Amino acid sequence: MRRWLATVAALAATAFLIFFWWQHRTERVERTGVLMDTPVRVVVYASPGKAEAMADAAIDEVSRLENLWHPDRPTSDVAQVNAAAGSRAVTVAPETLQLASLAREVAEDSGGAFDPTIGPLVRAWGFGGEHRVPSVAEREQARALVDWRALQIDTQAGTLYLAHPGMRIDLGAIAKGYASRLVRELLQRQGAKAGLVQLGGSVAMLGDRPEGGKWQIAVQHPRQADQYLTVLSLGSGFVDTAGDYQRYFIQDGVRYHHILDPATGAPARGMASVTVLAQQGEWADAFATAAFVLGMDRGYQFLLDHGVEAILVSDSGQVKVTPGLAKDVKVDVGRWP
Ligand code: AMP
Ligand code: MG
Repeated sequence: MRRWLATVAALAATAFLIFFWWQHRTERVERTGVLMDTPVRVVVYASPGKAEAMADAAIDEVSRLENLWHPDRPTSDVAQVNAAAGSRAVTVAPETLQLASLAREVAEDSGGAFDPTIGPLVRAWGFGGEHRVPSVAEREQARALVDWRALQIDTQAGTLYLAHPGMRIDLGAIAKGYASRLVRELLQRQGAKAGLVQLGGSVAMLGDRPEGGKWQIAVQHPRQADQYLTVLSLGSGFVDTAGDYQRYFIQDGVRYHHILDPATGAPARGMASVTVLAQQGEWADAFATAAFVLGMDRGYQFLLDHGVEAILVSDSGQVKVTPGLAKDVKVDVGRWP
């Protein structure tokens, strides 16, 4: 009888251990794709049998947000608001309302260096289609339509309204960061143990890598495609890079890139890349673009004022790193063309 009991106890203990091991086993699933006109990568660590579904849900979420915010998708909130510019307010999804409010805040804070109504200029330069250098007249005409103050947000009614015909919102400089945050929150809600969400230059980290240690995030060298400026060792949070090498064309030896200065109507001059670490994805994304437009000195000050850490690289290879990051990180631009 006692032997029998001992056998049962041993079996029960083994079953429990297997169950415990299974519960605590972690599966890693990775998905990649192209959404929001940029490479998307999702890495999920979760209990076996859960990670696959979570990674799929994450990709579906990016796709849903792309459908809300893509300017060239006629049914998107952004396209609808643009089509109704100067005529009527448009009801949009709560996420779109929130994103527009965040964008307007950064516009005000940056003195309009970041402007979510940049659409007419993006179009004039052909970003999103055939790149070209617009005439001065064309550029001025587009520039006259860029004014974040004319983006009216009615949070009660849930509507957006562009006050003048021809105006266009373009949330491209903040949407990926905000999306990375929403997807990260989704993974968190679903009980992921850790994860990484990357949409182009916007990266969200959740937890620490279960293999041990922090996430290793390489910051690309703006002029040497196969080299890194540095590798950041990061825990939970957000990091974002705005660079003049991400989307550009070269004509007559001049680099024309996709980050436009609302003050000149042309690609912002002076910077090559700005990398920002922030508490929220939308701040990291929008601040990186804002600082890029503001340039080395004003951009650096803007980032300090907003309490974020950053690496700024000018287009002549000069580097500035905020104090909190400078103590851990070495940045080497090496050979600069
Ligand atoms: P990012 O890659 O985050 O720096 O965002 C660049 C994208 O944001 C461009 O492709 C444009 O769609 C848009 N954009 C360009 N210049 C500005 C600006 N000054 N303010 C806000 N959005 C901009
Ligand atoms: Mg940005």
